[in-house]
Amino acid sequence: MLARPVAEDHQIPLIHEVHADDQHLLNTIDGEWFEILHAFPWADYRHHASAYYDALYEFNIREGQRSAGDCGTAPETKEEAKQRLLFARATMRSPQEQESLPPILYQGNVVELKAPKVDPMELAPGVVPLRLVGRKPKCFFSLLKSFMGTTLMGFSAEPEQVHLLLKSNPSFARVCGFAPKEKDKPDQYSSHQVPSLRKLEQFDQVMRAAGIWDQIKVTEVKRNLQAGVIETEKELVGDTTHYHAHSGFETLTYEDEKGHIKKKSQSKATKGCRCEDWSSCPHAWELSDEGAGTIVKSKTKMIWGHKASVIGLPKQGVPIDAVAIADAATHDGQTFFPHVEKVFEHYPPLGASVERVLYDSACDDAELKARFDEELGVELKASFNPRRSKAITKDLPRGIEKITPYGVPICLAGHELDYKGIRYDSEKFIYEAPRHDDGSSVCVSCSKRAECCKRSTQSGRTITVSFDTLGHIDPHDPPMAKRFKAIMTRRPSVERMIKRLKCDLGDDRLSKRGNESFQAYLDKTMIAYHLLIRHLH
Ligand SMILES: [Zn+2]
Repeated sequence: MLARPVAEDHQIPLIHEVHADDQHLLNTIDGEWFEILHAFPWADYRHHASAYYDALYEFNIREGQRSAGDCGTAPETKEEAKQRLLFARATMRSPQEQESLPPILYQGNVVELKAPKVDPMELAPGVVPLRLVGRKPKCFFSLLKSFMGTTLMGFSAEPEQVHLLLKSNPSFARVCGFAPKEKDKPDQYSSHQVPSLRKLEQFDQVMRAAGIWDQIKVTEVKRNLQAGVIETEKELVGDTTHYHAHSGFETLTYEDEKGHIKKKSQSKATKGCRCEDWSSCPHAWELSDEGAGTIVKSKTKMIWGHKASVIGLPKQGVPIDAVAIADAATHDGQTFFPHVEKVFEHYPPLGASVERVLYDSACDDAELKARFDEELGVELKASFNPRRSKAITKDLPRGIEKITPYGVPICLAGHELDYKGIRYDSEKFIYEAPRHDDGSSVCVSCSKRAECCKRSTQSGRTITVSFDTLGHIDPHDPPMAKRFKAIMTRRPSVERMIKRLKCDLGDDRLSKRGNESFQAYLDKTMIAYHLLIRHLH
C-alpha cells in the first residue's frame, strides 16, 4: 500500500497540538493508519460513545454485585453435560426437526435498545460523562482509535496487541490521545495515560457484550454506501473461511437417532465459576470454546477452528459483512442463505439492487436455488458440482473418446470440443471441434479422420449429445455455456476479500475463545477495512 503524498498546499485539519514528527509521519509511506487516526472524525462516533459509557456504568454495577451466586439447576455430571452441549449444537440437527433448531449464524446477545442516559452531544475526546463516579475512565475515542490503529497496522485487534503497540510506539499512543506517564509522578493515575492491559480488555469486553462493535460495523458500511465510497451492485458473492481456534478438543461418542454410534469433536466442558469443586457446585457446565468445530478441507485435511461467512460486492471487491457461524462444523451450503437474508435486512439499498448471488459448488443445489428465488427474489448461481468423478464413456458420438464430468467432450485425437449451444426441440447439446489461430478446423489435418469425420469438409466436426447422456447437467443452466463462465469469473473476488480481512488486517490464528469474541474480532476487522477504503477513496 502506498500512502498518497501530502501535497504541499494541502492543509491537514489541525485538531489539537501539532508535533513535528506528526508531520513527518503524515509523509511516510505506509502511514495510512496515522493519517486515519490523525484526522479521525470523532464526532461521527458520539452515539457509540454514549452507548459505551452507559454499558460501562452497568458493567461496573454488575462487577460490584458479582459472586452473589446465580444457582443453576441440579448438579449435572461432566459426562452428562458434554452430551447436553453436543446435542445443543447447530450441526446435531436432524432434517426432520428443522423448526425448533438453533440458528446457523451466530446471533450475538440481543441488546435492548434504550434511550441513552448519557447525552451524545456532550461527549468529545477527553470529555467523560459525570455519571461515572470514581476514577475518571479512559476516553472512548482514544480507546476506539487504539484498536482501529492496531488493525490498520496489520495486527490483530486484540487487547494484548493494542497494549504492546501503545507501550512501544509513542507516536501511536499520542495520536490516539494518550500521554506517557509523568516522570515526577510515576505512580499517579491519570485518565490520559496509556491504559493497562486490564483496562483494554475491559473496554473490548464491554464493547462486545453490548453489541457496539457490531453497531459500528453496520454504521461504517452504511456510511460508505451513502457517501458513494462503495456503490451498490447487481450481484453479491459469498464464501466461508476458517480461523484457527485457540483451544483444544476432545472426541465424543454418541448415539444417533437410529442407534448408530458416532463420533464428533468438541471443545472441552468447563465452568465459568471459581468454585473449588466443579463436580458438586450448582453452576452449569459450558463449552470452553463455543462455536469451534472441525472444518473439513479435504479427505486428509481437517482444521480445528471457527468458521466465518463473508459476503461482498464482486466488481469492487469490497466485503460487506462477515459473520461467525454458530457451529464451525456446519456445511457451507447451509450458511449462505441466512447470511444473504441478514445482509438484505441490514442494508436495504443492497436488497433493492441485488439480482444475483454467486457461490462455489457447495451451493449447487436445485432446492436451495428455488429458495433464493422464492424467498429473496434473487438468482443463485453456483459453480457446477458434477456429483460424479468419472467421465462418461457410453453412448457417445463417433470419434469421441469421453465426456468429462463437467460436460466437455474429448475426441480420439485429444482435442476438447467447444460448446456451441442447445437444441431444445430435439433435447441435444451441440459441440464443435476447435479451430487453429488461422480459423481452420483442427479436423482438417487430423490423423484420426478415418474413425471420425470421414467426409472431407473444411468446417470440421460438429457433434450433438442428448440431454439423457449428460443427465447430471441442467439444460437450462449448462456450466459449459459462455454466459455461465463469464458470470462465474467474478466469484473468486471473494477470496481476495477474505485475504484482505484475514491476512492484511489481522491474523488467522485466534487468541480468544468463543463465538462472542470471534464475532467481535470480525467486526473490528471490518470497521478498520471500511475506514481504510473511505480514506483511500
Ligand atoms: Zn461453581
